[in-house]
Amino acid sequence: MNENAFQAPAVEVQRRTPEVLQRIEERCAGLLPRVEAKMKTLSGRDRRPEARLVDQAAQAGTVAKRVMWLRKAADYLQEGAAHLAACRKGCSHCCHISVMVSRAEAQVIARETGAHLNTDAGQFTMQGFEEQSETIRAATLQAYGAACTFLREGSCSIYSSRPLQCRLLLNMDDDDLLCQLIENGDSNVPYLNTTEHHIASVTVLGAHQDYDDLRNWFPSGLA
Ligand code: SF4
Repeated sequence: MNENAFQAPAVEVQRRTPEVLQRIEERCAGLLPRVEAKMKTLSGRDRRPEARLVDQAAQAGTVAKRVMWLRKAADYLQEGAAHLAACRKGCSHCCHISVMVSRAEAQVIARETGAHLNTDAGQFTMQGFEEQSETIRAATLQAYGAACTFLREGSCSIYSSRPLQCRLLLNMDDDDLLCQLIENGDSNVPYLNTTEHHIASVTVLGAHQDYDDLRNWFPSGLA
């Protein structure tokens, strides 16, 4: 780890006690039909506006504009599903897990917010994702339970500039129980499937980008 790597306060990561595991098991019973019922109500939503916004992103002349259009597309997707999701203001579980961000997006965030960008970050590449899988898993575990460096008193201090991943992470269950952190970082959270948007982002911003956890791009947050 380089000297700029993040050091953030941790939140409670629950031990894997029989009680905790039982609570999760009980919640997972019936999870699939519960979430599928919600997804059915979303299936009729018009996705063409989102596709048009992604097209705008692809045609934009600067990285900043591409990111701006991708954010609009992500927000459209998020707004359509938010009323069915467990996510609520004040909940910050997903600010204590890994947030992968491309260099292009990190540079835009740095320009918009004035946060100091650690240009030495960017240890992952799209091409190397398979052979780097062990390192990525280690980085994911390192971030697990550690607060994002932009989290201030339970709120995002760069909300309008927050990464695409933060905009798109929606727990489609009825409450946050499955988002609660437990040892070893196993996740059963039924996140909204946003794969298409992530693929579009990689295509629009360029598959040559390097990636890293947000905390490594911005070890000091807005300090
Ligand atoms: S950028 Fe904001 S929303 Fe995203 S993880 Fe950090 S504090 Fe949370």
